[in-house]
Amino acid sequence: MKEEFVSLVKEIYGTGFVPLHRPVFEGNEKKYLVDCIDSNFVSSVGEKVTEFEEVTAKYTGSKFAIATVNGTSALHMCLHLAGVQTGDEVITQALTFVATCNAITYCRASPVFIDVDKDTMGMSPSSLNSFLDEFAEIRGEYAYNKKSGNRIKACVPMHTFGLPCRIKEISSVCAKWNIELVEDAAESLGSFYGNQHTGTFGSLGIISYNGNKIITTGGGGMIITDDESLAIKAKHITTTAKVPHPYEFVHDEIGFNYRMPNLNAALGCAQMEQLPQMLDIKKTINTQYRKLFDGSAIELLEPVHGVSCNNWLSSIILESREDRDDFLSYTNNNGVMTRPIWQLMSELSMFSDCQCDSLETSLWLQSRVVNIPSSVPFKNGYISNTNV
Ligand SMILES: *Cc1c(COP(=O)(O)O)cnc(C)c1O
Repeated sequence: MKEEFVSLVKEIYGTGFVPLHRPVFEGNEKKYLVDCIDSNFVSSVGEKVTEFEEVTAKYTGSKFAIATVNGTSALHMCLHLAGVQTGDEVITQALTFVATCNAITYCRASPVFIDVDKDTMGMSPSSLNSFLDEFAEIRGEYAYNKKSGNRIKACVPMHTFGLPCRIKEISSVCAKWNIELVEDAAESLGSFYGNQHTGTFGSLGIISYNGNKIITTGGGGMIITDDESLAIKAKHITTTAKVPHPYEFVHDEIGFNYRMPNLNAALGCAQMEQLPQMLDIKKTINTQYRKLFDGSAIELLEPVHGVSCNNWLSSIILESREDRDDFLSYTNNNGVMTRPIWQLMSELSMFSDCQCDSLETSLWLQSRVVNIPSSVPFKNGYISNTNV
């Protein structure tokens, strides 16, 4: 099977080295960048930032969007706005990228790790529910951890590799316990749960535009929310909390210099124009992988009923850790980049003291999941959706 896989990858992407995911700039990227330089507005003030925010709000169906320097800073701000502070606990999944936990730590809070569902690789609502039933209690209005005595302030589920997790159910569990829901949709621009875009189920959500994500601004992030007062606060604290004044420098709280520069937003505007076409092409590639693995011992993860996936990174489940290692070494030795999933957050030295549940499924997936090449291929320098 691994031989057939390598030939299919070469058929799709050509015979050279095939990376896991690379950006594609075949639209108005260069034009908008040059316009931006010509306008002299290259930094954190400029039309393209506002335009990129408006386009993103419209696409995701959220009322407001606030652009930031990266996804991690966006998440840091969301947790800050959700009121996460020293000593609080924030529930998240053990199977995620380290940025999720770093942002929690920037607020001097501790992550608590919950297991994921096997079919979504995202937070399991039933594991969340059992954890809270066992360890949480409501004191006054809010949820506290009976074991640590700390307030459980927020919950951050993540849509792994663009596959939407069971966000509706997670949202009801959070509502029941009065826990703020902040969605890490860093990887899921273009993924929907029903008709609703991921990242819009909680009070706040974030998107990342790092170079390896589905579209890129070089580096960048976005806060999305339907709450006008949170949106105003988000804009304010990400722009050094400067009070508008024709010439005076007045800042009314400790702010952050987290606003996305106009240059990056120019790239983002051009990339958003390409997104629908990229989604189509990535779906075609995922379908080719599906046909290849169909009926074999290798399982290609697919979206659960009623959700749609952006196919950012196609992922497969091998039968065992040995099979995984064998697949990784064969493909990487043959010019096809494949990667295992992240080490669990609970195993990293910084988070090894954090509370977690059994993490049974996370451990199972960790030793079996592999990401396979998922970029939009170049065809004669141009995106082609006819012959991938
Ligand atoms: C990429 C990513 C982030 C952070 O985004 P950056 O823009 O790289 O800071 C956060 N969470 C997850 C799950 C990510 O994959």
